[in-house]
Amino acid sequence: MGKSSKDKRDLYYRKAKELGYRARSAFKLLQLDKEFQFLDGVTRVVDLCAAPGSWSQVLSKRLFEDADSVENSEKKIVAVDLQPMFPIDNVTTLQADITHPKTLNKIMELFEGQKADFVCSDGAPDVTGLHDLDEYVQQQLILSALQLTTCLLREGGVFVAKIFRGRDIDMLYSQLGFLFERVVCAKPRSSRGTSLESFIVCIGYKPPKHWVPKLDVNTSVETFFEGCGIGRLSLEDKLAGYSEEPRSIAEFISCGGLDSFDSDATYHDVPSNKPALDPVQPPTNPPYKRALELKRQGKLART
Ligand code: SAM
Repeated sequence: MGKSSKDKRDLYYRKAKELGYRARSAFKLLQLDKEFQFLDGVTRVVDLCAAPGSWSQVLSKRLFEDADSVENSEKKIVAVDLQPMFPIDNVTTLQADITHPKTLNKIMELFEGQKADFVCSDGAPDVTGLHDLDEYVQQQLILSALQLTTCLLREGGVFVAKIFRGRDIDMLYSQLGFLFERVVCAKPRSSRGTSLESFIVCIGYKPPKHWVPKLDVNTSVETFFEGCGIGRLSLEDKLAGYSEEPRSIAEFISCGGLDSFDSDATYHDVPSNKPALDPVQPPTNPPYKRALELKRQGKLART
């Protein structure tokens, strides 16, 4: 598929390039914020799994709207990803693995002991195609983001993360319910209706009293959340009576409004004389880079 046909098939893809965003994901954060207004008045923000950086661009614009504000010196945005990121104004980038405990220390050092008002994670692992494995890795990524968040977020702060609504999602909702006052599952209109992708918006961080979250290389997830009321799902051998565990179902909100573009539609009214736009920021470390290098050296030959 050519660039211009993708511009028509996915208007968010085109709009992102027109507005200078590095990825169409920017609209997901913009539509979520329009619904929940969680970026109003925030000062310190952590963007996990941030590359290529469109969420960080949105955050930078929102936090530093008023370039002359004296409060700008108080503001801080830290963006973390496995991939290197090209610089973004007012954003400190960190190339690190969010599942590695040392990453927390690095972020904390950058915040100089202060807590964040908002943590977000748009993390997605490389997909293998093995459905159960992909779902498991995604869940581990969300848990790592949540563990980091419990150590970084101030009381009352907000956590937003991408999820895929799979079989075990009730478990995640009930776990989050122990840590936040309100948990909403939100689907922005820029997220394709055909995808299982949604976002959990967790408002009002309220860790249980006497529970001190701390990351330790040797700590399992169960030990980490010990004492905060979060349990494991247990299988009980009690069929008689069928007493089913109450399910935790999060509020579901679709945001973005019907007047915004439909991410599954093809728009034919992009004038054909409008040229296809180049990407705002080419990828820093694309998988095809090595293949191109080998080709240049004449080492890539058809057998
Ligand atoms: N929000 C980003 C934006 O707007 O540009 C897009 C994020 S992209 C969908 C998912 C990112 O998750 C990828 O850049 C990937 O490198 C990152 N990622 C996956 N696993 C990670 C991990 N363990 N630690 C840090 N980043 C990770």
